[in-house]
Amino acid sequence: MNILNAIIEIIYPPRCLICEKFLVNHRIKKHQNDILICQECFNSFDKITSPLCPICYKPFESEIEIDHLCEDCLRKRPFFDALGAPYLYVGDFMMGIHHFKYGGKTHMAGSLGPLLASFAKKWLKKVDGCLMMPVPLHPKRLRERGFNQSLLLARHVAGVLDTELDFLTLRRVRDTKPQTGLHRDERRKNVRKAFELTSTDVVKRRSIILVDDVATTGSTLNECARVLKRSGSGEVFCLVLARTSGM
Ligand SMILES: [Zn+2]
Ligand SMILES: [Zn+2]
Repeated sequence: MNILNAIIEIIYPPRCLICEKFLVNHRIKKHQNDILICQECFNSFDKITSPLCPICYKPFESEIEIDHLCEDCLRKRPFFDALGAPYLYVGDFMMGIHHFKYGGKTHMAGSLGPLLASFAKKWLKKVDGCLMMPVPLHPKRLRERGFNQSLLLARHVAGVLDTELDFLTLRRVRDTKPQTGLHRDERRKNVRKAFELTSTDVVKRRSIILVDDVATTGSTLNECARVLKRSGSGEVFCLVLARTSGM
């Protein structure tokens, strides 16, 4: 931290993005300067740990810490090769993402981005030559919200992992209904043909890291992966901040 920032922090002490308490010596220890989340809130996040499904990252309630495929992935493999999320979409973390996405708190990307990046560093074995793509919003939604939360996150992660970022090639061409309240089959149908690539050359034989804020059903990411694979991409990894437990 430089002197100017130190002075600013004395005059305007930063607050925790989740509970709004002042962050005087209470930040997450590992990430002193960049993440504005207090240790207490950080500890309350529901971290996903083994045993889990190595494809969709669904956690299992079992004492034996051996990862294995879940029933859904056994029955029908998704188009993506693996999905990874540091946390479950519950409690304070869910509220935090909600404020970030719907409350227009774009500055939260400065803290959520590094959290996702540090997870990605451990989770992704090899990132050389990978192409990072945020899940796009339909132009109509982008106009309403003013920003794409997935792009804000992907920018941070791409910077940390030093991967190429492409947020123009994958486009959302159909404005879909919100996925909430829809059954599995309805969700799949709802996002079908919602995405297109403006060019297939950039994805040919390349591993893709798709970035989104949350995986609630996995259908959106799966549909993006389907389009990418059909266009000749290599492996597709889905990187999200949080996933629901029932997905
Ligand atoms: Zn807090
Ligand atoms: Zn699974």
